[in-house]
Amino acid sequence: MTAGLIPFVARAGDSETDAWVQALQLAMPGERVVRFDALSAEERAGCTVAIVANPNPADLCQLPALQWVHSVWAGVERLVAELGDTHLKIVRLVDPNLADTMAEAVLAWTLYLHRDMPRYARQQADAVWQSLPYVPARQRTVGLLGLGALGEAAARRLLTANFQVRGWSRNRKAMGGVTCFAGDDELQPMLAACDILVCLLPLTPQTTGLLNAQRLAWLPRGAQLINFARGRIVDDGALRAALDSGQVAHAVLDVFATEPLPPGEWQWKHPAVTVLPHCSGPTDLATAAAIVAANITRWRQNGQMDFVDSLRGY
Ligand code: NAP
Repeated sequence: MTAGLIPFVARAGDSETDAWVQALQLAMPGERVVRFDALSAEERAGCTVAIVANPNPADLCQLPALQWVHSVWAGVERLVAELGDTHLKIVRLVDPNLADTMAEAVLAWTLYLHRDMPRYARQQADAVWQSLPYVPARQRTVGLLGLGALGEAAARRLLTANFQVRGWSRNRKAMGGVTCFAGDDELQPMLAACDILVCLLPLTPQTTGLLNAQRLAWLPRGAQLINFARGRIVDDGALRAALDSGQVAHAVLDVFATEPLPPGEWQWKHPAVTVLPHCSGPTDLATAAAIVAANITRWRQNGQMDFVDSLRGY
């Protein structure tokens, strides 16, 4: 297969679209990367691969020879849902740089909870001078839901800070220093010892609403939660009740069912919630573009590609 014309199809503003096109073109000088709306009908007819960022499915329908799309995002639940009935295969972004950035965020916000920063902030607001009991990291268990590209990097980073680390995935993993759990049957024993629970699962039919009242009750009383994956993995009503009762002492939430989080939502004002604006794992255009370029070059050379399993949903 030879190099050719690659459309960039996105539901994004002009400046974001142009920045992606520029980064992608720089990373693949042998291809011509063009924003979708700049292509003629004739050019569209010849495109076999597209690079996408939350594309409008109607735009993809105007590329009749398209075989697959490469997303510039790691999470592809919306694409899987929207392309479900088509023949199009999906490639998602697996970027070690993103995993490293996310691992840094996991460590940062784990330390925030581990060293009681929310409680010290509340004490300061009330002018309270009171040190809280110190618990060493080696006595604190951090559990990761998801041990994929992001979860594995996060687990390794947590180990460097001396935490006890456990992780849960569909298929059992073997990671030095990490206690690994697998499958639905092992979720309860996994959660039972987590002082801090970090969610790095993809959103799929199986993980939607996974952290409901029952499963939050499986955590030790006073456990803390970090959700860096997708908002709908957590049952919001159940989380609010768990925070109000003290079952969950604090939640750091970077992702929400509706984003941006609407002004009236309870999370903004809840004393036991830290709201972040989906900033835990920002995409680096240059490293992401380099990964996309390498994948497309490999595909041009030997037709090999790791596609998302659309039945599995991630
Ligand atoms: P990944 O490599 O596909 O890993 C997913 C992990 O979740 C795997 O370990 C998988 O198990 C496990 N898993 C999936 N379904 C499961 C189930 N039903 N039960 C138990 N384990 C299950 O994905 P990733 O690259 O690490 O990314 C994870 C998610 O992070 C993305 O889907 C995205 O939503 C989110 N994300 C958020 C941000 C942000 O800024 N907040 C940035 C990037 C990504 P197996 O290993 O057994 O398959």
